[in-house]
Amino acid sequence: MITARPRGTADVLPDDAGRWRHVEETFRQICREYNYQEIRTPVFEHTELFERGVGDTTDIVEKEMYTFRDRGDRSVTLRPEGTAPVARAYLENRLNAGPQPVKLYYTGPMFRYDRPQAGRYRQFHQLGAEVLGSDDPAVDAELIAMAMDFYGRLGLRDLDLHINSVGCPRCRSELRLRLREFFRPVHDKLCVNCRGRLDKNPLRVLDCKVERCDELAGNAPTTIDCLCPDCEKHFGRVKACLEGLGIPFTVNGRLVRGLDYYTHTAFEVMVPDIGAQSSIGGGGRYNGLVEALGGPPTPGVGYALGVERIILTMERQGAPFPARNRPDVFVAAADPSGEEKAFGVLFALRAEGLSADKDYLGRSLKAQMKLAGRIGCRFVVILGGDELKRGAAAVRDMAGGSQVELRLEGLSREIKKWGLGIRD
Ligand code: AMP
Repeated sequence: MITARPRGTADVLPDDAGRWRHVEETFRQICREYNYQEIRTPVFEHTELFERGVGDTTDIVEKEMYTFRDRGDRSVTLRPEGTAPVARAYLENRLNAGPQPVKLYYTGPMFRYDRPQAGRYRQFHQLGAEVLGSDDPAVDAELIAMAMDFYGRLGLRDLDLHINSVGCPRCRSELRLRLREFFRPVHDKLCVNCRGRLDKNPLRVLDCKVERCDELAGNAPTTIDCLCPDCEKHFGRVKACLEGLGIPFTVNGRLVRGLDYYTHTAFEVMVPDIGAQSSIGGGGRYNGLVEALGGPPTPGVGYALGVERIILTMERQGAPFPARNRPDVFVAAADPSGEEKAFGVLFALRAEGLSADKDYLGRSLKAQMKLAGRIGCRFVVILGGDELKRGAAAVRDMAGGSQVELRLEGLSREIKKWGLGIRD
């Protein structure tokens, strides 16, 4: 018997699935309000998309991808993130030929081969939004505001919003020079990874999690020190929009996404109390991405929020979740001869829009009543005896304990009127 799931994956059982649905539905609602349209891309893509679209000096591409050869000997990869696939779909389906900007959202599983721990999984789920085709800093602000609005509606508190500008490729080549100069005297004190990064991608030293590197980077020049006037202006507008909306933020010059097609805004939302994996979402502008995939120069900006960490934080903070769905009605047969009738009544109630269920294990009436209580049905329709001969049934209100006789004809209407307070 196979009894263990792969490491870093999870089963979402019915009690938890309601929490997931609540988070996803709240996100969909926000997307409707902000006018983002849903896009669904494949769960796997050509490996090259992520090598080019995420960047081959990132941890994701260097060591975390689920890459394999399919039976046709093509290299494919389970998507580790959603932005590159969305940019690919935008180009491939010529969404750039329609009205711009194109505002899209997605939900779904992502895959990264990382060491699993609380809040870090190998299959995890993201809610994402992307805007392609506009360079307006107000769009960056809209996305950030939308993410914060979403967290707020879920009842999350004490969130830290960090924002930064990583400038444009020109600002960054200056920063690279300055970083190499800054770290040269302390080169040997950096971790092995960072020594390599200093050549390939020195910006990544700024966000190294190793304590020693973190300390050494404390006084290093940051992206903010190297912004050109255009980038400065863009960042100024993003900040002004956020201020105008009353959204508090901290400027964090060490928040980097060290790839050439990431431009301008970078942001991350942190919760203080969920341990090492404190980021519950992040994003930024990527004006060079579509071009890196072979398309025309196209500005873009987006974010991805982690569902597991959001739910974890909601649970830790005691945020409210809706009650579990419970059927309205349980249809019980008083004796085996009433089973067929019960089956018919069950479907008639469902056809009228009530959620209803019955026993399928041949239980006694007493055991059926107990079951109805356990699954939390509001009413039990008891079919049998004299009532049935009169074309009626006994209906018990499980909350109040009272029982009335109702005619089978028009039963759902009567139940709605009597118990659920719904009137036609
Ligand atoms: P990223 O795509 O790395 O910017 O991540 C965006 C968000 O996805 C993060 O803020 C996390 O909330 C979530 N996330 C990223 N990696 C994982 C993972 N391995 N397990 C669970 N959540 C993750």
